[in-house]
Amino acid sequence: MAFNIIVLAKQVPDTRNVGKDAMKADGTVNRAALPAIFNPEDLNALEQALGIKERFPESKITVLTMGPGRAADILREGLFRGADDGVLLTDRAFAGADTLATSYALSMAVHKIGKYDIIISGRQAIDGDTAQVGPQVAEKLGITQITYAEEILDIANGKIRIKRRLENGVEVVECPLPTVVTVNGSARACRPRNAKLLQKFKHAKTATELQSEDNDYVELYTARPYLNLVEWSVADVNADPVQCGLSGSPTKVKKIENVVFQAKESKRLTDNDAEIDELMRELIESHTIG
Ligand SMILES: Cc1cc2nc3c(=O)[nH]c(=O)nc-3n(C[C@H](O)[C@H](O)[C@H](O)COP(=O)(O)OP(=O)(O)OC[C@H]3O[C@@H](n4cnc5c(N)ncnc54)[C@H](O)[C@@H]3O)c2cc1C
Repeated sequence: MAFNIIVLAKQVPDTRNVGKDAMKADGTVNRAALPAIFNPEDLNALEQALGIKERFPESKITVLTMGPGRAADILREGLFRGADDGVLLTDRAFAGADTLATSYALSMAVHKIGKYDIIISGRQAIDGDTAQVGPQVAEKLGITQITYAEEILDIANGKIRIKRRLENGVEVVECPLPTVVTVNGSARACRPRNAKLLQKFKHAKTATELQSEDNDYVELYTARPYLNLVEWSVADVNADPVQCGLSGSPTKVKKIENVVFQAKESKRLTDNDAEIDELMRELIESHTIG
């Protein structure tokens, strides 16, 4: 048995180490000031895919990412850890996409990839934080979905069995393939890069990256086709530009506020309801909660 697995992985600004220059004056993320990283839960998703490939070695893992040219780093990272190939969905027309437009574009790329049994995404991205894209991709493809997965237990007789992490415990569910699975951060951590794969794929590049290279290397990419990372535009995936990027996004991010907690604001409360109500009102007004 072998499975065609697509891992959805997003390049995100490392919002875990937000410094004072992380936000621009217009309230948008200063992506230049924040290192771009592999979304943490997408690494858990990749690990689940690699786990399936260990059990069914003929399986194929394709990492799919939508983003600017530098998101090719996500594909290389996936290859260094054991994925078989990668697709970068990149086009200015994808910029400013909300989750609806993002999931539309990703679903069009999945259609173009063609064969898929399991699509595995992270539960949530650490920048948009909506946890909407995985379920939306399933809806767009008209297939089932299992969210908050902690472990893919088994795949047999055309069905997948999964342990889910819920607020008050775990449950084991089963559903027919094909399906979308979103993976929780409580799942097994991703295995590190493999030294041999790092050597093999360190020169892997997209056509756009190659264009900025001097010509010395061209023979290398002809001789080793696996070094050519696939790059698709709106036209390549037959997407309707109106449904992509800003034009396809009913949700517009109006303003992002930088909430920095400062220790000196501690307050001692008694168990008096009025005091607690007052504190809650303050925390909501300061956007610390809610
Ligand atoms: C601060 C902030 C707030 C935002 N708020 C909203 C909002 O309220 N509503 C809205 O519609 N949009 C919002 N956006 C835009 C949203 O971030 C983008 O649409 C984004 O592409 C997808 O949403 P997400 O980051 O919430 O991802 P999530 O839905 O949390 O991502 C879940 C999983 O989907 C996959 N995935 C997500 N994006 C990609 C990608 N580009 N390539 C490959 N796989 C991917 C990954 O596996 C990821 O783990 C916001 C963006 C920011 C920076």
